Amino acid sequence: MSEKSGKIALITGANKGIGLETARQLGKLGVTILVGARDLSRGEQAAEVLRGVGVDAQAVELDVVNEADRVAVAKLIEKEFGRLDILINNAGVMLDGRKGNETSTTSQSLLRETFETNFFAVVALTQELLPLLRKSEAGRIVNLSSILASLTLHATEGSPVYDAKTFAYDASKSALNAFTIHLAHELQGTKIKVNSAHPGWVKTDMGGEGAQMEIVDGAKTSVELATLGADGPTGGYFHMGEALPW
Ligand code: NAP
Repeated sequence: MSEKSGKIALITGANKGIGLETARQLGKLGVTILVGARDLSRGEQAAEVLRGVGVDAQAVELDVVNEADRVAVAKLIEKEFGRLDILINNAGVMLDGRKGNETSTTSQSLLRETFETNFFAVVALTQELLPLLRKSEAGRIVNLSSILASLTLHATEGSPVYDAKTFAYDASKSALNAFTIHLAHELQGTKIKVNSAHPGWVKTDMGGEGAQMEIVDGAKTSVELATLGADGPTGGYFHMGEALPW
């Protein structure tokens, strides 16, 4: 068992991909991990794997778009721990590829479905958990954004994302970045830091096999932002320690 830090983290969408690897790496630092999963049995399998490598992990049923799940998770954390130290808003969807990705023909339903998970649910879950994060000595909120959220890079010919226009996904993550900036501003002067992370283009179900980064590296930005010291940044947008243009 990793030596316990006493810290409690909730990671959404932690049953696979970057979320699961983030859980492993943070858990190895001694953080108790609540493995958020919309399918509890898959969450329990992931928690089992994590416990097998010495991580203090337990699964929690959390479909982030489901209000009842969000309320229940907050109640469970309040009852069991009385506070939350780290919230990693990792769950996300990219639906553009599945349903056609021309901006001019992107449907309302695709936009709404994407925003529901990548933006509205993140705002709602964070609002639900904020009272518990305020009770932490060093609350940390990490919003899994993407380089595809960068309006500056999308508008710059020759940038790495200039020709990668998945409108619904990109816009939902730009909106998420707005949440990061606005919430961090409100929380100035508190012990809570809020940052957006671009994990890199990572070999997961979402990133695909052509992605450049291995999952082990794809979790590093989330872990770094979840464990920032008191002198660390807030209201920023980072990839592996480097600031990205908004
Ligand atoms: P992934 O392998 O597709 O995993 C996504 C996770 O989110 C899964 O656990 C999935 O659960 C969960 N999820 C989706 N909708 C959910 C909901 N309503 N409630 C709860 N969980 C939900 O993707 P990933 O590559 O690890 O991505 C993690 C985050 O990084 C995402 O926010 C993504 O946008 C961001 N990101 C990824 C890349 C990349 O290259 N991979 C690049 C930039 C940003 P199920 O297993 O139940 O589907």
